[in-house]
Amino acid sequence: MQTCKQCKKDVELWNKKCGSCGFHLVLEPDEMRRARFLRGPSLGAMFFTQGWALGAKLYLWFLLSLVPIVGFVVLFLLLIFGRRWSWKYGAWASWEEFTRRMRLLDFLAVIWVLILIGIYFWIR
Ligand SMILES: [Zn+2]
Repeated sequence: MQTCKQCKKDVELWNKKCGSCGFHLVLEPDEMRRARFLRGPSLGAMFFTQGWALGAKLYLWFLLSLVPIVGFVVLFLLLIFGRRWSWKYGAWASWEEFTRRMRLLDFLAVIWVLILIGIYFWIR
């Protein structure tokens, strides 16, 4: 969370503009880097949605992702907003802990896809 310098309202970390007064916030290079990371897609959510939601501490989304059809919508929402929601609701101890987990989840997704491809060629 950051605070708007004009109206003192809370602004989400990934926003450059205040939602209530439209004031453009000047982000420090470090904050800019964080905002960019939070706005990035969570590729892991695309390939193993349930595992990703669990790892990202988005437990309600984990349950929703188990519901047929709804799970498909959840996949896309998590792909786009996953990092932001996880950062906001995940109760992470630090930014480092959060980014480490996000990278681990993306890495696991790649491994998971490679295993699926392997299985495909093996049973074909
Ligand atoms: Zn404002």
